[in-house]
Amino acid sequence: MTFETTNPATGERIDTYQPHDEATVDAALDDATTTFESWRDRSIEARQELAAELASVLRARTDKYAQMMADEMGKPVDQGVGEVEKCAWLCEHYAERGGEYLQDERIGTEPNAETYVAYEPLGPVLAVMPWNFPFWQVFRFAVPALTAGNVALLKHSPTTFGCAEAIETVFRDAGYPESAFQSLRVEADRVESIIADDRVRAVTLTGSTRAGRAVAEAAGRNIKKTVLELGGSDPYVVLDDADLDDAVETAVTARTQNGGQSCIAAKRLLVHTDVYDEFTDRFVEEMTALTVGDPTDDETDVGPQAREDLLEGLDEQVQASVDAGATLQCGGDPLDGDGFYYPPTVLTDVPEDCPARTEELFGPVATVVEVEDEADAIALANDTNYGLSSSVWTEDRERGRRVAEQIEAGAAFVNEMSKSDPRLPFGGVKDSGYGSELSHHGIREFTNAKTYWIQ
Ligand code: NDP
Repeated sequence: MTFETTNPATGERIDTYQPHDEATVDAALDDATTTFESWRDRSIEARQELAAELASVLRARTDKYAQMMADEMGKPVDQGVGEVEKCAWLCEHYAERGGEYLQDERIGTEPNAETYVAYEPLGPVLAVMPWNFPFWQVFRFAVPALTAGNVALLKHSPTTFGCAEAIETVFRDAGYPESAFQSLRVEADRVESIIADDRVRAVTLTGSTRAGRAVAEAAGRNIKKTVLELGGSDPYVVLDDADLDDAVETAVTARTQNGGQSCIAAKRLLVHTDVYDEFTDRFVEEMTALTVGDPTDDETDVGPQAREDLLEGLDEQVQASVDAGATLQCGGDPLDGDGFYYPPTVLTDVPEDCPARTEELFGPVATVVEVEDEADAIALANDTNYGLSSSVWTEDRERGRRVAEQIEAGAAFVNEMSKSDPRLPFGGVKDSGYGSELSHHGIREFTNAKTYWIQ
């Protein structure tokens, strides 16, 4: 099978890629193993210097890579620039703090013994990655993993194979050993056998819960460490004392950035009954005013959806929700013409068991639900299989903290939209996955916290 990349703004083919055959994958795993033996012995300072170099290479190519993301998955160019810059920031963060994060932990259990924990690398780590943040998701895994002394194998989404090649080039041009970061062009059904291979020591996946389950099952059978960053259906709670100007404006961004294709997008807006009408009117008005169009145009707020099948799936979820009784306030039909465009869409009066309430809506579609009070908001926020992030809006910070503490999620933001930051851990609970990325938590995930007792 030949892979094809397609421009979602036009529907036209960009490029084709041949899958790697068994011998190529085998050689890549051998090279990864050999490279690991020397890479792990480089000083942490040397590895940090390369992370800094990685940032410089990225920054010099920001516009080129932003354009590449626009072409392959429809991300508006200004958002692509932001993504590349964020990757560079991440590199700089680990260039600066990586050594500190991995320092031995002195315990001192006995007066006459040296006891400590050392964070030692595991070996080649496989990363299965999605198309929605084709640079960020990969760097978020790879930079801490490599700084800790591991080597990386990437199975990227075929939707963004051009980005996968570009990332491989960035690592090489920054001066990393040839096989420290390798991209494998393989179909999803070959991942299981790669996980089973003894040369692969751990695996991480960012993507749907369905894919996460498959990878975790394969890893479990082979007793291999996994980190899973899966989907979300994040609650965005607007209480009666919220600053509505901020809450409305941020909700629009939080729901629609990256064409709404973000795991931590605000997908379920839970709004207090006292401000429900005003919030909903203003939110619908601002969603309708967004400019949908060519991702390379500076005026565009929402680009196309990344693939035609994803656009169709999203539309089916919306139609099924409307058929079940939800009210369409705006949007709701794919746009006519070339490209895979879906308009900003708002659903209200959403019945409990329809897709808009129970499934992840991966596009610019928001549901607004009226809640009676704080307790009702918390109950609905937790009424989901997901638990990635959450956001609460109130002028009373302590009230915000109290509500946030009761939401089952990997993160809680008060008067701010959910976002990732290299300095803070990122990861979910429930069907949103487990394990942490970023910060000192992330860099230690693919290490062996090894106990030393030197008498
Ligand atoms: P997937 O989760 O299917 O894809 C993500 C990655 O996992 C891709 O590299 C994919 O490869 C791989 N993969 C899929 N199935 C398996 C498997 N059984 N074993 C090993 N690897 C696998 O996302 P899609 O692109 O199909 O998008 C579908 C839906 O997933 C979206 O509508 C959205 O709801 C959700 N999603 C969530 C993301 C998030 O960040 N939360 C990111 C992307 C998607 P391949 O493409 O070759 O199948």
